[in-house]
Amino acid sequence: MSPNMQDARDLEGLKRRLAHVTNLPTLPSVALQIVELARDPDVGLADVAEVIALDPALSGKVLRLANSPLYSRQRRIDNVRQALVLFGLDGALTVALSFSVARLVEDEPQESGLDYAHFWRRSLATAAAAPLVAARVGYRRKEDFFLAGLIQDLGMLALDLAEPGLYAEIGADQYDHARLQAREVECLGAHHGDATVWLLERWNFPEAIVAMVGASHAPTESLRAQESPAARILHVAASLADAWWHPDRERAIDAFAGQAEDLLEMPHEEILGLVTDFSPEILNLSEIMEVDLGDPRLLASVADEARELLMLRNLYSLQHTQEMEERAQRLEIQASTDPLTGAGNRGYFDEILEAEFESARKHGWPLALLLLDLDHFKRINDTYGHQAGDRVLKEAVRRIRGCLRRSDTLARYGGEEFAIVLPGTRAEGALTVARRILRALRSRPIDLGQGRQQPVTLSIGLVSMEGAEAGFEHPGDLLRAADRALYEAKGQGRDRVVVFADWESVP
Ligand code: GH3
Ligand code: MG
Ligand code: MG
Repeated sequence: MSPNMQDARDLEGLKRRLAHVTNLPTLPSVALQIVELARDPDVGLADVAEVIALDPALSGKVLRLANSPLYSRQRRIDNVRQALVLFGLDGALTVALSFSVARLVEDEPQESGLDYAHFWRRSLATAAAAPLVAARVGYRRKEDFFLAGLIQDLGMLALDLAEPGLYAEIGADQYDHARLQAREVECLGAHHGDATVWLLERWNFPEAIVAMVGASHAPTESLRAQESPAARILHVAASLADAWWHPDRERAIDAFAGQAEDLLEMPHEEILGLVTDFSPEILNLSEIMEVDLGDPRLLASVADEARELLMLRNLYSLQHTQEMEERAQRLEIQASTDPLTGAGNRGYFDEILEAEFESARKHGWPLALLLLDLDHFKRINDTYGHQAGDRVLKEAVRRIRGCLRRSDTLARYGGEEFAIVLPGTRAEGALTVARRILRALRSRPIDLGQGRQQPVTLSIGLVSMEGAEAGFEHPGDLLRAADRALYEAKGQGRDRVVVFADWESVP
């Protein structure tokens, strides 16, 4: 498999599978009518009101939504017309579509390993979270995010019908969305996001919604590369929803906070605010949709727990910044850079590593270190000359930097070797970063000028520690460990990351 193919999926195969299913979920007739209306350029609010009025359950939900805190208003809205005016034409169409599509999820299909109650709760939670996240990053159109959040995983229902064995033994993996998706790709060569897109296109759903849903299932680096934040918003919202019912809540909340920070550049206070707003919002939505979320007190305590966790994270980050600044002043650490690449130089790296090592041990914070070495770099020099080699070094640093957060330190450790210090990062997070870097290099060749394109890869050694873990007494111990892991990565064939002590190689 060529490296670029790793994220490619067999969409044709998926289409063939789905096209054979006779009992696929069909759009309720109200929803069909609304999709038709949405495609009609001459449609007005009165037309929408007419369709909604024919369906009492739908009218009730529309009214309750208009009176919910999501649209905080002074006066009660007591007829559908007023509600639709409040939503506006596009909003009204989207809200009506959301509620009519939601019925698909309500009826439980055949026997399956899939936990439908959980699926429905997660869809609702994402629908509740998405408009909140959008608002926090200054994005309007909350109805679009509501709809997209609600339907983003409908493809799972289709896949469950198309491949009855797919989820038969999924067990706890269904509660971990990344794992679920990886499993689908393994079995089918495609995932439920692809199936959702297929379904929505068949149903003639608005293109913007289909695009947002499709892109939100993409890997992190393509999410980052997207110009519009819509897919990132949806992705972060789903991650917040996940955290609520995740068996390992602490890890899930941490992952959500990391994504909000990384993908939306959301400051800590905003993330905290989001968690605070979320709990009443999902309760409100569960009432509108008449879904049982379990004990509301439990939900409130989850919110408290999440807030506490995030506060700790916040505290860590504040304390960490302060400590590093003080230390920099005391030691007069200057950000000394390597003139060729602009990365930190060796001396700077040594000082930062020592400082981070000490504070990680003192406070019990996690710390990770990556050592990177370009593969077969000598050949490039030998074939195209030293200048071409320099160009590769510069471009490699540019790409690596694009994979890091502000708090990470990148330095040139030696000729074509680089080191990255990742404070507050556990092995799992560091592995994500390492794989992102591998892909950033692999994704396309480096331009050497004069029309020459050179594929370049690198190998990475990863080591992580948490607090005063046995074995790492000095920063040098950490470096040696990363170096051994790097050596192992070279030995196992290059273009990969090896984790110290696991010795597991990951492409
Ligand atoms: P491996 O995959 O095992 O790492 O193979 P390699 O060829 O990358 O490793 P090796 O350590 O044998 O070669 C490193 C080369 O990097 C040799 C040296 O000439 C080159 N190099 C070191 N610093 C620079 C630099 O600043 N510019 C250029 N162009 N080349 C450099
Ligand atoms: Mg080398
Ligand atoms: Mg090398």
